[in-house]
Amino acid sequence: MLTVADFINLIKYYYTHSSVDEALKDIDKCELAHLRHVEKQIGAASPQRLHLDPMASLYDTCHLLVKSRAHRVPLLDKEPKSGVEMIVSVVTQYRILKFIAVNFKESHVLRQPLSVLKIGTYKNIATASMDTPVMEIINTFAEQNISAVPIVDERGVVLNVYETIDVMSIVRSEKYYQLDIPVGEALASRPKNYPGVHTCRLNDTLLSIFRTIRKQRVYRLIVVDEHNKLLGIVSLSNILGHLIGL
Ligand code: AMP
Repeated sequence: MLTVADFINLIKYYYTHSSVDEALKDIDKCELAHLRHVEKQIGAASPQRLHLDPMASLYDTCHLLVKSRAHRVPLLDKEPKSGVEMIVSVVTQYRILKFIAVNFKESHVLRQPLSVLKIGTYKNIATASMDTPVMEIINTFAEQNISAVPIVDERGVVLNVYETIDVMSIVRSEKYYQLDIPVGEALASRPKNYPGVHTCRLNDTLLSIFRTIRKQRVYRLIVVDEHNKLLGIVSLSNILGHLIGL
């Protein structure tokens, strides 16, 4: 699958190997096979070629998504007569979790707060300030294999979140000069339909998180204290991992 991780690799490669003008000309002629060369040049791991059988269980699907940290996996089936493989659908962390959020009724687990459940990451959280150049954050995405970095002030108060999906806005608009500007400036030109940052508190329950997931497309929740100071991050993979006991 071609994902935002491939575009991040391309940006990292061209950022160090050529000028924007040269890169744009090169990209016009670039074939997908070129991505393998780019990965080698920047020392990035080749993408995992994951797939699932459409009859895979919900458990196995969650297990693969959590273990691989993949956000989506194609479902590969075989045409019965010819035996030809074909992709019949793609499962995403969000779709699976939304399905669970709608159907899971284990109220004891759902009524416990995050402070008891300990779901998420609370140590060594990668953050940035409004002055951090966008390219520095993109390097952090690649180095730490994470999809979001909270933007905090000097007291640790969460001001915003920069996400890998924001990188796609740069690619789509070809505004590559944005790689060198402070993230605060880049965030100002975010698309109008940006859904916003989802936060939660340590005393929030899984039930309240599931309510949010049922209503909106959420990819992560930023855990903050009563002063909006950063405490942790709860990604969808953390919730899936918790539900299957990983
Ligand atoms: P994600 O990329 O959102 O699927 O998250 C993958 C893993 O990295 C999960 O365990 C998250 O809790 C963790 N994580 C996400 N964002 C950060 C961050 N900014 N700093 C440290 N860990 C993170």
